[in-house]
Amino acid sequence: MLILVLAGGVVWRGLAKRHRRAALAPAAATTLAESMAHPGHPDEAETIIEALRSDLAVHRKLILLFADEADLRGPARDAAMSAGHQLHHERMDLVAQLDDTLTVLTAQSADQRDPVVSIVLDWMERDPEVLELDRLAFRDPLRVLQHGLAQDASPEGMVLKTRITQDLAEVDRIESLVESEYRQVFGGPGRPAQGGERRRWNDYVKALKSLYPEVGTEAPSPIPPASSQVVRREINGQAFPEKVLVLSFDDGPHRVYTEEIKAILQRYQAPAVFFEVGRNIGAADASGAVKLAPLSALTEDLVKSGYTVGNHSYTHALLSKETGKPLDTEIGETDAVLRAIPGAHSQLFRFPYGARTGVQMQALEPYHLRSVLWNIDSLDWADPVPGSVADRVIRAVEEEKRGIILFHDIHDRAGKVLPSLMERLQSEGYRFAGLDANGELVLPPR
Ligand SMILES: [Zn+2]
Repeated sequence: MLILVLAGGVVWRGLAKRHRRAALAPAAATTLAESMAHPGHPDEAETIIEALRSDLAVHRKLILLFADEADLRGPARDAAMSAGHQLHHERMDLVAQLDDTLTVLTAQSADQRDPVVSIVLDWMERDPEVLELDRLAFRDPLRVLQHGLAQDASPEGMVLKTRITQDLAEVDRIESLVESEYRQVFGGPGRPAQGGERRRWNDYVKALKSLYPEVGTEAPSPIPPASSQVVRREINGQAFPEKVLVLSFDDGPHRVYTEEIKAILQRYQAPAVFFEVGRNIGAADASGAVKLAPLSALTEDLVKSGYTVGNHSYTHALLSKETGKPLDTEIGETDAVLRAIPGAHSQLFRFPYGARTGVQMQALEPYHLRSVLWNIDSLDWADPVPGSVADRVIRAVEEEKRGIILFHDIHDRAGKVLPSLMERLQSEGYRFAGLDANGELVLPPR
């Protein structure tokens, strides 16, 4: 048994068996779905913890993959991106099921719900396998639980909500430690760098390296770059006028974060495009009949508030590997679902991971869709440090001077960095523009 004492005073005992189990296993997702056939069953807590453990493993591996990001160039960077995308992809299914499971759980009666939630929170709060900085990975599931309990005013519900609020406060505390360490080393707006090292963060990365020595060494082959012919037909923001930026948010809608991001955008009167994954909002059968899912109400709300919604495939598949009917379904089913939501359909399509060749571009044509990519990647899906995400965007904006910024509305990250980022960019003369349903740039009034 290996014992590590981290800077934060957290003692961690890593069991080799646990490491293996922590590897993201598709089996965990299946069991999760199956367990919902018996809500409130004692095994349910263990199933949820297993899913959280798998999610944590991905979170840790993403941190490792991009730990040396500043030194990553050329093929090494492409390989890290590709490995990261693969992890992100595996995580999406898991998180979608986890969010659904937690939401269903919160709606159960207190005597069914509370023992399960309690075991899950116990694990998050004090399981020895959880490192102090790991808790950053628990914000999203805690927010989903909090959201599910929002309307519960019973005494039992209040007790649970208080505990979740305290757990979130602990996540905030850790995040601000990591953030202030980052700002001390790199400086920030109006704050000079003071040097030193990110001791807490570096200790964490070191601990993760010993847990996952394989990360970064066995990178999958990168997604091949699209031909110049393909690229010419796309919108990626590089042809925008100088100092014009378009914000885009992918992979939603999300029951917690989409509305939060919308509120921030409204505060800054900034337009944006939301590229949504079709299965989040509904399904279409062979005859084309559409059944909308509950989250489609969020899509409808975005549209009513003036935001453009685009198609981000049906299951967020790596479409460069798809052809024929499966490829057509990925595009067409989301197209049909969006058409069923008043005002939501547009000509905008974003390939998951930007993965496409001429074949996939061709497949957009029957639907009259245009491919929209990005030239500024926040990496908000891989980086839990807000300052680091914001700096990455600033650096890329300074280099590109215009373009489309990629964020995601399925984590808290974008909402965290947006207010200060938008203020800074606006003060430097950047303007936030929109894309209309035809993909035409809509400039804000001067
Ligand atoms: Zn995506």
